[in-house]
Amino acid sequence: MSFIPYGRQLIDEDDIQAVVDVLREPLITQGPQIEMFEQSLCQYTGARFAIALSSGTAALHLACRALGVKPGDVVWTSPISFAASAACAIYCGAEIEFVDIDSDTHNISVEALSYRLQEAEKHGRTPKVVIVVHFAGRACDMKEVRSLSIRYGFKIIEDACHALGAVYMGETIGGCQYSEATVFSFHPVKCITTGEGGAVMTNNAEIAAQCKSLRHHGIEYTPENFMTKNDREGYHEIQAVGYNYRLCGLNAALGVSQLKKLGAFIQARRAIAEEYFRGLSKLPLKLPLFDRVNENAWHLFVIEVFGDGVRDRVFASLRALGIGVAVHYIPIYRHPAYQRPEVAYKKFPNAEKYYQSCLTLPINLAMTESDIDYVTSAVKLVLSQQSTS
Ligand SMILES: *Cc1c(COP(=O)(O)O)cnc(C)c1O
Repeated sequence: MSFIPYGRQLIDEDDIQAVVDVLREPLITQGPQIEMFEQSLCQYTGARFAIALSSGTAALHLACRALGVKPGDVVWTSPISFAASAACAIYCGAEIEFVDIDSDTHNISVEALSYRLQEAEKHGRTPKVVIVVHFAGRACDMKEVRSLSIRYGFKIIEDACHALGAVYMGETIGGCQYSEATVFSFHPVKCITTGEGGAVMTNNAEIAAQCKSLRHHGIEYTPENFMTKNDREGYHEIQAVGYNYRLCGLNAALGVSQLKKLGAFIQARRAIAEEYFRGLSKLPLKLPLFDRVNENAWHLFVIEVFGDGVRDRVFASLRALGIGVAVHYIPIYRHPAYQRPEVAYKKFPNAEKYYQSCLTLPINLAMTESDIDYVTSAVKLVLSQQSTS
């Protein structure tokens, strides 16, 4: 049996042709493919602006900068996320703090958030920005988070790197109905891929202009926008210290082609999830919540298994059977780069419990029917060995 990775891309001949076509163009980067991809993203999500970038990490960084995150500010996020959800605040010189998760959705807990905000207000340390993560492809409760943001005056970035194709209250994630900006990643394990790539979505023209400028070193070429009047030929201005966070045209063309198939990709992911729900019910494990209202993008299928050392043994046994199970995620505050002496793990009881039990099963579009059966049977077998030993 070959190895079944937890996630991987699905590339077809149209995708390949789209990239090859760009290779024959005069501009293989900074050409029309970027705007085409951005327009497609706007069309899909309903957002006014899309800024295509070199990665989801770059997108989080620029979203933070465009929202004015700077030294002295505090940014909050979920500890059950990828490194970049926290690192982006630190890149801006701000401090990152974590808020516990909800045990059922595995998203940031609105209850914990609300409590922490009350406390923070007393100490004059409310966050400038809260980065909510639509974990595994499940939308956070954005209406609740929005009402807290109005009450306490923080801004919201949606880290939707797992959630392209997900729906919240009838609206596609990325439309920024309840946030200042939404961030996507197009890494090959995500719902569509550009190889490497990411995007910031926003309805705010100022945020969009900032992100666009910072992606290309803050350089301005249009005379009407110059800060200093200057009529010399070839004059241009570095107006802010930015980055090279551009997406290459080859990658953007792949994105345009992939995005056309997103609907089918999400359906296929959902079909795999449904097979898991059928195959794994009545076993001693906790399945993900099945939300009938909000369509999940099923980036990850995370089960929880309980008991002393059970998760680690199940993990090892499934890996030995060629199944690419994974742990999403070790709480960020547990990593050496983030550990502070005063951080007590007991401040995050739900994240801690989750980390003891979580196990990601493969969902990738290259999986066949028999791969799915193989995974389900293997989970059954390995769990039965746990109860008898
Ligand atoms: C993948 C991911 C990112 C970073 O995206 P890259 O494109 O790999 O830089 C950020 N946040 C979350 C939740 C992710 O899963």
